[in-house]
Amino acid sequence: MRILIVEDEPKLAQALKQGLEAERYEVKVAATGEDGFFLVSTEVFDLMLLDLMLPGRDGFEALAALRGRGLQTPVLITSARDAVEDRIRALDAGADDYLVKPFAFPELLARIRALIRRGRADQVLRLKAADLEMDLVTRKVCRGDQVLDLTGREFELLEYLLRHDGQIVSREMLVRDVWHEVQRATPLDNVIDVHIARLRKKVDGGGGSKLIHTLRGVGFVLNENLPEGTPAG
Ligand code: CA
Repeated sequence: MRILIVEDEPKLAQALKQGLEAERYEVKVAATGEDGFFLVSTEVFDLMLLDLMLPGRDGFEALAALRGRGLQTPVLITSARDAVEDRIRALDAGADDYLVKPFAFPELLARIRALIRRGRADQVLRLKAADLEMDLVTRKVCRGDQVLDLTGREFELLEYLLRHDGQIVSREMLVRDVWHEVQRATPLDNVIDVHIARLRKKVDGGGGSKLIHTLRGVGFVLNENLPEGTPAG
């Protein structure tokens, strides 16, 4: 789950980023409306936290430009402006929710979860393979009755494997869809292999059937059983 924070107050932006990363969200920060608009137009985010008072293009303008382009990314306004007119204006301009600063971090998390649930009304909220279960709203992962403590990247990686349950996932797919680094000059193969190894230790290390398999020279597959004749590595 990727979140874009558009916030010009560096300390607040950093605190939000750290807090959200601790909740295993993947976070990017933009300090101006222009940068925020650029990022949300060029990358995929599940949610955008948008400040209203920004240098240059302000939050209202960024929001109008975003919706004008037809981008559906859910937007949660975080602003010190608490006037009813500002809230109405922002919601009318296409914001999905509005939180007045200063706010309690747990409330921000609850509103993020609510927006993600709403955005995913027609999508699955839980992924499952054998006794491995991932809750996409609470971001909790369990193998049997064991709760797995995953980093943000491990969570994204496991979510991707679960969404492709039984299908071969190549390193190229992971570079494109999990690392979002197609422009990168040096290969990510070693980085991916290290993350897979750590993830496998957490998912398959506690006994039970092996779920994450490496297919030599091909990629990875998450499945309870390997397809017949598959050259596992
Ligand atoms: Ca501001």
